[in-house]
Amino acid sequence: MVDVICPGCKRKIGSYEEQCLFCGFPIKKYLQNNNINDLKKKIICTRCGNEGSGRKKLVMLKCEYCDIPMVQIKYSDQEFIDMYNAALNKILERAMDNLGIGVLEMERMIQKNDPRILKEMINIKGMAPYAAFIKEHFPDTFNLEAFEKRIWAITPRCPKCGSTEVKFNLEFSSWMAAIGQEPVADSVSKDNICKNCGFNW
Ligand SMILES: [Zn+2]
Ligand SMILES: [Zn+2]
Ligand SMILES: [Zn+2]
Repeated sequence: MVDVICPGCKRKIGSYEEQCLFCGFPIKKYLQNNNINDLKKKIICTRCGNEGSGRKKLVMLKCEYCDIPMVQIKYSDQEFIDMYNAALNKILERAMDNLGIGVLEMERMIQKNDPRILKEMINIKGMAPYAAFIKEHFPDTFNLEAFEKRIWAITPRCPKCGSTEVKFNLEFSSWMAAIGQEPVADSVSKDNICKNCGFNW
């Protein structure tokens, strides 16, 4: 059985409950009203791209950024990831062409978190690749401003000066954020250095 986050009180409850045990929120009705009947499918905010399912173990049913119900789509989480990766590869191929580089050079640049790759990808799509992907799937509901606001909110920052020019111990986290995906917060560990103020934490 899948656990969800209660849209009323944000606590963990079973998806099979009639009502939230803590606050009485009518969970069953909420799921019915929003056509959510299969929690193995991808649950997502089709406005800002916030993911209700996937990496998180709990399913979120309401977007905390847009304050609207999440949408259950016809694909599973894995299918959605595969589709995104395929779309990303296509953009990367075009970026390589435009930059006149091969696969090895591109991989090296990605590893080094070279901003030219993302810049080129944004040139091609007019926005972050993940934003473009969400927009292609949900053209009627997607809102770039909401997407960017959400990314701003989840982008890791220096706790002292607030700069995003931070060298994290695991470069992977910042690369994830840079391409418009949620950074894996758990992987941001010790010995991060702020390039702006030099703060170390
Ligand atoms: Zn509740
Ligand atoms: Zn949202
Ligand atoms: Zn700083």
